[in-house]
Amino acid sequence: MKLFENIDFLTKDSINQSNIKLLSGMIEKGNVSHAYLFSGNNMKLLARLALIFAASINCPDRGCGDCIICRNTLSGVYPNVLIVEPEGRILIIEEIAKLQRFMNLTSYNPGKKICIIKESEFMNSAAANRLLKTLEDPPDEDSIFILLTEDISMLLPTVVSRCLVYSWNFKFIEESPERADFEIIEKYLDEGIKNIIMQKEDAGQPYTASLDLTLKLVEILKKVEAAVKADQEKEISEIKRSDFDRGDINRYIEILKLRNRRKISKFHNLGMSRVFDIISAWLEDILAVKLGAIEKTMNFSKNYSFISGKNKNVKTDRIFKLIKVIEGNKNYLSYSVNSELALDNIFLQLQNIYG
Ligand SMILES: [Zn+2]
Repeated sequence: MKLFENIDFLTKDSINQSNIKLLSGMIEKGNVSHAYLFSGNNMKLLARLALIFAASINCPDRGCGDCIICRNTLSGVYPNVLIVEPEGRILIIEEIAKLQRFMNLTSYNPGKKICIIKESEFMNSAAANRLLKTLEDPPDEDSIFILLTEDISMLLPTVVSRCLVYSWNFKFIEESPERADFEIIEKYLDEGIKNIIMQKEDAGQPYTASLDLTLKLVEILKKVEAAVKADQEKEISEIKRSDFDRGDINRYIEILKLRNRRKISKFHNLGMSRVFDIISAWLEDILAVKLGAIEKTMNFSKNYSFISGKNKNVKTDRIFKLIKVIEGNKNYLSYSVNSELALDNIFLQLQNIYG
């Protein structure tokens, strides 16, 4: 169980923990079902998870991580494990036929035959019906299907009902495509916070620095949203040109839109929580310097001289209050609070920590 109980990309919440407990229990007892459905918001991580589960099922040590079965399964080359994914956008019947042939073959390798189906909501109806027959009447005792989806609501209910369903919560993984945009956000924040603090010192100036910073951050969030929508238009026109039947085409378009909406809100929430974290780190630094901390112990030690040059008029009680406000905003991120307003308010309060 070494592999399965030490997955670094899962959050430590109770849903994940009970999933792991249930699944490892099945492996321990040799009581593995023939069809699973894993849902979660990141297909790459769902696939890694499915391979870890597959390795744990077939490894004599229940997922040691070191034996040839574990290593080959994790790198996707163990002959008993087949990974099926949509051709282009759509999972077609030929892929399901390939899967059926694989499942019907006699295996010469130890362990069960495991088929992992990525993006299973992208099956067209012909493929789904064919898969359904296989799920209802699996070829033998040693066949296991693991379906993966980011959109469980888009799968045929008849398919879902044949599977044991587990939903997973993943940690944010750094190497995301949004990384470059996050770096820009960090740069703007660093400059913007300094401007806000300096403008407060220069009391003759009107307070525009906080407004400037809010606008810049909102602009990045909008830019990402526009890029996702532009891609979506392209994908939709491709799907419309394909020769699938109307019903399938409408379903793909709906899935695509849903996925993109989720992508935008994920970026928005991650971006905003990154912003909140950075402001909190600044506040902690200002507080620490005020209390006589040394450079090394700061979150951003490069700001030491900037902060210590300005800490004469810092109101520590206002810093504590603002840290609480930020925490509160972070907790409500997924309830679509108006982030523009929230940011504006936080930056104004930041100005006022200098009495
Ligand atoms: Zn092993």
